[in-house]
Amino acid sequence: MIELNCFVTQIIQVSPIMKIIRVKPDGWTLPEYKAGQFVALGLHASASRCADATAEKNEFAPDKLIKRAYSIASSSTQNFVEFYITLVKSGALTPRIFDLKLGDKIWMGKKATGMFTLSEIDENKNVILIATGTGVAPYMSMLRSNALQRKGKIMVIHGAANSWDLGYSSELTLLESMANNFSYHPTITEPDKEPSGWMGDTRFIEDIWKDSVLEDKLGFRPKPEDTNIFLCGNPRMIDGMKDILGAEGFEVHNRKNPDGHIHIEEF
Ligand SMILES: Cc1cc2nc3c(=O)[nH]c(=O)nc-3n(C[C@H](O)[C@H](O)[C@H](O)COP(=O)(O)OP(=O)(O)OC[C@H]3O[C@@H](n4cnc5c(N)ncnc54)[C@H](O)[C@@H]3O)c2cc1C
Repeated sequence: MIELNCFVTQIIQVSPIMKIIRVKPDGWTLPEYKAGQFVALGLHASASRCADATAEKNEFAPDKLIKRAYSIASSSTQNFVEFYITLVKSGALTPRIFDLKLGDKIWMGKKATGMFTLSEIDENKNVILIATGTGVAPYMSMLRSNALQRKGKIMVIHGAANSWDLGYSSELTLLESMANNFSYHPTITEPDKEPSGWMGDTRFIEDIWKDSVLEDKLGFRPKPEDTNIFLCGNPRMIDGMKDILGAEGFEVHNRKNPDGHIHIEEF
């Protein structure tokens, strides 16, 4: 049976179905990684599932290590690795992760990977980091690393169902007040459920993009020549934004088109 190689050192319940979890390698170090990369987490099928979980679709042998990819939310200078995870109640791994207690063990792959990083983008270019839900995780790693030292402007647009699902909003609001080149624009889609009201945006990200919010916050309308766009999270938002951006001349970045301006990480 594969040995679990990390300890859970912090658990923050962000909302009923979202947790921030920190893990610390047990006697080894995760090699340096680029902000925005992801790593695999895993637990054995014999691990218990949280009380909210529903029946799972597959049956696994008890010693099977169930592994999934998770974006790192912490900067690589820390001696822990942080994740922001949504519970998929019928899922294989997340109900087991949501039953972990402080000090429990979890498996983490020994190498982070992925091309969803700022490392090859000219530091004079602006970057707009767009996320739904836990898709904000890789942006936290970028902002907690050296993204704010870039010369171009940086904006985070974060969409979620409710205000309590907007993980990291305090940190992002604080950053906005401290850094001249950073702005933060949260939006929620279920304002009727807010017990004390919501004064912010309630539109879908696609509608925000078409509006003048960007000009107001950034002072210019983003164009392919001056701005790279990152999209992370819900595939529907990503598809919607890809169409809108494509019509404005933005191209998807990939191995065949390394000069593309749209960077995508689908969860
Ligand atoms: C590169 C990469 C980075 C990722 N980073 C993160 C991250 O930082 N945080 C995070 O929470 N997830 C992240 N994911 C998703 C993660 O890998 C798992 O897919 C997710 O946690 C579900 O795992 P599971 O085993 O519980 O469910 P599974 O048994 O794998 O899936 C059950 C079903 O749920 C659907 N599903 C998957 N994710 C969701 C969701 N969020 N909401 C609703 N339905 C869903 C799947 O399409 C599938 O049909 C990332 C995925 C990739 C590819």
